[in-house]
Amino acid sequence: MSFRWLPALLWLSAGLLLITALVDLPPAWREALIAAVVGFILLALYFVRRFCTRFSDLQERANELSEQVETLTLELTRQQRRRLALIDGIPIPLLICDEHAMLRHANRLALEWFGFRHMTGKSLLALTFCYDLFLLMLKAARRESAVSGEITFSFPKERHTEAYIWYLGEADSHKLFAIALIDKSELLRLEQVRRDFVANVSHEFRTPLASIRSLAETLHDDPQMPAETRQRFLNLIVQEADRLARIADDLLTLTRAESMQPVREVFELAPVIQQAVQEMESEARRAQVSISAELEPNLRLFANRDQILQVALNLLSNAIRYNKPQGSVSVRVYREGNHAVLEVADTGIGIPSEALPRIFERFYRVDKTRSRETGGTGLGLAIVKHIVEAHGGRVEVESEYRVGSVFRVRLPLHATEPSEPQSL
Ligand code: ADP
Repeated sequence: MSFRWLPALLWLSAGLLLITALVDLPPAWREALIAAVVGFILLALYFVRRFCTRFSDLQERANELSEQVETLTLELTRQQRRRLALIDGIPIPLLICDEHAMLRHANRLALEWFGFRHMTGKSLLALTFCYDLFLLMLKAARRESAVSGEITFSFPKERHTEAYIWYLGEADSHKLFAIALIDKSELLRLEQVRRDFVANVSHEFRTPLASIRSLAETLHDDPQMPAETRQRFLNLIVQEADRLARIADDLLTLTRAESMQPVREVFELAPVIQQAVQEMESEARRAQVSISAELEPNLRLFANRDQILQVALNLLSNAIRYNKPQGSVSVRVYREGNHAVLEVADTGIGIPSEALPRIFERFYRVDKTRSRETGGTGLGLAIVKHIVEAHGGRVEVESEYRVGSVFRVRLPLHATEPSEPQSL
């Protein structure tokens, strides 16, 4: 029997009671009816009790269920937060769009890229101003599959990317897609730098090689050539071969500085600079340039000694080669805060202001002929810059055209002295 019978039982009991009260029945019938009414009422009470027990069970179950729902909702919110944190933390710009290319989420880097603080709910086109990406997104939506393509953005700055779009599934009756943008601009720039470098190197090698070849051919074709001319030609061949060797040496120095971790040791800067000055003295004499040095003692570096010597030699060589006869070079070493400064000043030809930002580039020369005539390779300052920066230092230049130049190298002083030479 179910609770459906409860009202019927109550109505029946009430009906029987009414009959007992209103109809004049024989006492035996009356007693039977009253007994039946009492029975029905007891039955009804039994049902009410069962109903109450079931009801409280149900209430308990409902409470349990609502607790479970609450826990699940909390877990879902946590999961969603974790997912968003994951997406936000990914170090590539990531966008989530629906099938109409409306933005549902953009991670932090994507917003940074496009210069927005908050962007969901807007069209992908309004965020990126890139029609190609918009079309690619619609293509992915049509196919409901992964697509990719090269996309170039011009807003807010030019970027060359590879865009990957893939289908995530449905949520809130919308199809969702993820868009990841891989920036290839730096790669393309490096590729261009590499191509330019290779082109420059072959050009640098080709010029002396062409001279050697034509001089050798002339010597070969003219056996009657006067001995004096022959000697001059042979000297030129030796000079060009020396030039080739210098370029190869400088290229090797640069490559080594770039690819190898320098072995460092603690040493005093002044004696190294003194050594460089001594090594350059004969070259200075030949160029009729005087060198003076003022070197503060006790400035210790934790650095690669040979490379620091190379920096000093390159700067001194330039100060002598780009000087005027009777000119001078003054070298100073002094302390500035927790840095040692190497300063090489000359009274030479100076550098035009428009050329200053470029002189540290590989193979850049202000005056190609002068550089070549004095044995330059166009790599000296590139080597200086690379070594100094690899040691956590900085190099700067001040120059006045036709008056002279000052090169300053700042290197961090050694703080605590290790017991043995160490490799970084
Ligand atoms: P290079 O082997 O030609 O000297 P560097 O890389 O050492 O190459 O220098 C690049 C260019 O910077 C030089 O060709 C020269 O034009 C200019 N330069 C460097 N140092 C000086 C200086 N002290 N005075 C004038 N010009 C300089």
